[in-house]
Parts: sequence; C-alpha cells; structure tokens
Amino acid sequence: MTADFETQLRAVSLRVTRPRLAVLAALRDHPHVDTDTVIALVRADQPTVSHQAVYDVLRALTDAGLVRRIQPAGATARYEMRVGDNHHHVVCRSCGAIADVDCAVGDAPCLTASDDHGFVVDEAEVVYWGTCPGCATAGTAQ
Ligand SMILES: [Zn+2]
Ligand SMILES: [Zn+2]
Ligand SMILES: [Zn+2]
Repeated sequence: MTADFETQLRAVSLRVTRPRLAVLAALRDHPHVDTDTVIALVRADQPTVSHQAVYDVLRALTDAGLVRRIQPAGATARYEMRVGDNHHHVVCRSCGAIADVDCAVGDAPCLTASDDHGFVVDEAEVVYWGTCPGCATAGTAQ
C-alpha cells in the first residue's frame, strides 16, 4: 500500500515524504475526517509532525487532486481519498456524520440547470441532508 501511495505522489510530481504517506494512509482508513482528526491520526504514528505540516500536506494533496476536500454548509472541512468519480454525500444534521452516495447520473454535472444563464456548467454539488440511523434512534428514545 505504501508503494501505491509513492506511485500516486510521483504521478503528480510530489516528493514522497513520511508525513504525506501518513496523511494518505489516515484518509484511506478514515474517510471524511476533519483536519484535527487527520493530525491526531498522523501524530499517533509520527509524534513530531507539526499541525502546520499536516495543513500543508492536506493542501498539497488536495491541489494535486489526490485528495478531495468537502465542506458541507456549517461543517468543518473534511477530506477523503475517493476522488474523480463525482460522488455525493449524505450528512446528518444532528451529529455531522457523512456517508458517500454514488451519483445517480454517473457523470458531471449531474443535474441540468433549469436556466444556465449561458454558463458552461460542468459541476453540480449535491448534498443530501437528514438524520443518521443513530440519531434517529436516539431521537425516538427520548
Ligand atoms: Zn447523526
Ligand atoms: Zn465521499
Ligand atoms: Zn450526481
């Protein structure tokens, strides 16, 4: 797996560094985590890595397209390694849990605007909001 990450980094002309490998491994094992969680996961393995280093790694990986950054309204930014497939997310309004939803259409822009105002539309961002099973159960228990 580490060899895989090295190949991915080289493919986008990023140097292979231990923090970059650690961030990729963290996101592979924990999709949709926020920055603080990534820092905790990386530091469990490499205690000397600074917060700033993790921020920089996340930005470099996102800019290079290896990592996708999602930010549902009102939530902190989350990161995941599932990129390039135009999938969407369902978000729990109560606890912020996030799960992947495959795109019903399969390719961007996914929705046809009722009026595109002459824009060439290449992306529609869909977020499904609701209550996750855990919160729904907790709600009925009260
Ligand atoms: Zn929930
Ligand atoms: Zn996702
Ligand atoms: Zn879609």
